[in-house]
Amino acid sequence: MGHDFGGEHPVRVFTTQARWNALAHGTAGMGDFKPEIIVEKSGVVAIDPRDPAAVDALNRRPGPCLVTVADGTGMEVIAAFRLLAARADARHPVLLKDTLDVSHPQDDATSALLTSARNLGSLLCDGIGDAVLVRSETDPGQSLRLAYNILQAAGRRIFKTDYVACPSCGRTLFNLQQTTRKIRASTGHLKGVRIAVMGCIVNGPGEMADADFGYVGGAPNKINLYVGKTAVKFNIPEDEAVQRLIDLIREHGKWVDAPPPATPQA
Ligand code: SF4
Repeated sequence: MGHDFGGEHPVRVFTTQARWNALAHGTAGMGDFKPEIIVEKSGVVAIDPRDPAAVDALNRRPGPCLVTVADGTGMEVIAAFRLLAARADARHPVLLKDTLDVSHPQDDATSALLTSARNLGSLLCDGIGDAVLVRSETDPGQSLRLAYNILQAAGRRIFKTDYVACPSCGRTLFNLQQTTRKIRASTGHLKGVRIAVMGCIVNGPGEMADADFGYVGGAPNKINLYVGKTAVKFNIPEDEAVQRLIDLIREHGKWVDAPPPATPQA
């Protein structure tokens, strides 16, 4: 295999040769959404996981082999990949596909998004998958954005700042929407950092998921800051708290300065 899959490697984003060709002139401007591997050139082996002979042949291969479910098996996507993951040896990395039937394209972008998010998201959250291929969305660039965003939402590949915010309720101790906007404006360029913004200390710390840093209402107009699930700064006046959060991120080596705004080309 030309690329490393599985283990500590990021989940890879595949595209098709046709989509690669369509994007080839513009990949420089695609930023974080570049395709990484062309499926037709990847050497991926496609099998029907219900076929014992195919599974046996796969598992008799001496080395790791990128594997996926073959199109047109008639199986439901999530069930098909769960079966593949259960039957293929763990040494074989798995390429997930959002659909196994490209002959019936989705009616619209929303249906495509829901299909991809449901199928890939469920499998990725189960811990299945070392690479993904989105085909329900027919626009080449949009299919890549969708793939990366599903990976981010599933927590499997963080390529931009990740935010967790509580929905707010009667306990919320500051203006959650306004503060979240302010924090996003200051930290939106920090790739891979997870920040939680929670309205109160009653339930907030327990709901911060795996955030690296937390901004939590401690008392009226006072903020507590967290590193992981540990409170490290207490009762900071609200008007200083965003800057103190930035200082905390810097102290923990996760800060980089925002890139200068792009200059318009002549
Ligand atoms: S974290 Fe606190 S403020 Fe936010 S929704 Fe939960 S209880 Fe309400």
